[in-house]
Amino acid sequence: MKKFSLFFFGLILCFSCQNIEKSNNTSKTLTSTETTSKKPEFAIVIHGGAGTILKKNMTPEREAAYQAKLEEAIRVGYEILKNGGTSLDAVEKTINVMEDSPLFNAGKGAVFTNAETNELDASIMDGKTLNAGASAGTTNVRNPINLARAVMEKSEHVMLSGKGAETFAEEQGLTLVKPEYFFTENRFKSLQRIKDKEKTELDHDGKTAFYDPYIKDSKYGTVGCAALDKNGNLAAGTSTGGMTNKRYGRIGDAPIIGSGTYANNATCAVSSTGWGEYFIRAQVAYDISAMMEYKGLSLQEASRIVIQDKLTDLGGTGGIVAVDKNGNMVMEFNTAGMYRATMTDKGELKIGIYEK
Ligand code: ASP
Repeated sequence: MKKFSLFFFGLILCFSCQNIEKSNNTSKTLTSTETTSKKPEFAIVIHGGAGTILKKNMTPEREAAYQAKLEEAIRVGYEILKNGGTSLDAVEKTINVMEDSPLFNAGKGAVFTNAETNELDASIMDGKTLNAGASAGTTNVRNPINLARAVMEKSEHVMLSGKGAETFAEEQGLTLVKPEYFFTENRFKSLQRIKDKEKTELDHDGKTAFYDPYIKDSKYGTVGCAALDKNGNLAAGTSTGGMTNKRYGRIGDAPIIGSGTYANNATCAVSSTGWGEYFIRAQVAYDISAMMEYKGLSLQEASRIVIQDKLTDLGGTGGIVAVDKNGNMVMEFNTAGMYRATMTDKGELKIGIYEK
């Protein structure tokens, strides 16, 4: 009888333990469901270049024009994502709006080379497949980000440059323009002022490349976008005219996968803007992803270390925008300002220009 009661007691104990286990499991499941439901369905972040963008050098009209264009651009991507479109489409179409605006150094409004031409660079990356496309030094493709995407999806290659890239763009039926399309008075004047300064100061170290002595402003007007879509796919893209007064077919970081652009569904999507040479040497976009992957850092921590410590220690200036696989968005820069905006799945829009 004693043996039987012991067995019976044991059975009850075992049964109740199982129940505790089950309820623990249930509460674990509940916790993760709660976390999932808090995770945004999608997210989008953009930049229109970083630099010494100071309020004292800005007119209210100009500031309003930048804000309006940033909002117009990000809303295009937001609508695509809201309607279940892909992050790649959102990135491409958002960048198109900024490429078509003379306010930014990309597409119309691209800066001038030393030879008084406009040579454009762009790249795009799909975080799901790790496929990527880039174009460098094109002079007649209206929207270089479309060319980068065509390179990714319609060619065997990752990066095409110069005449070959232009031939490919034509074959793909992309919109071609006369090189004069990219001419803007402001950018042309900037080039002349920089050339004059070079003559008088014999400054050939490239430091005048982004600095306009007239507006006392040095800025990188590249445009970029990073997005997460409803299917959990990340994408990033970047488009630029490069740096004023660039020579000898110089190519910056914008079309370099891992420097100007990187996307990986396992970590994050990043687009850079800044002094391209440093961004190439520091492999900025990939380094942020690698820090997350190998060190388990958050996007915020990884971005801070790469921009504020590693890039800054090298002497590089600029910034990034990025979104991680959970929809967290980051805008990190070590300059006085960066044209930037974010939009959440709730439709909350934030636009920034200056540091604070
Ligand atoms: N990163 C670009 C380049 O070096 C410039 C920019 O961001 O505006 O070509």
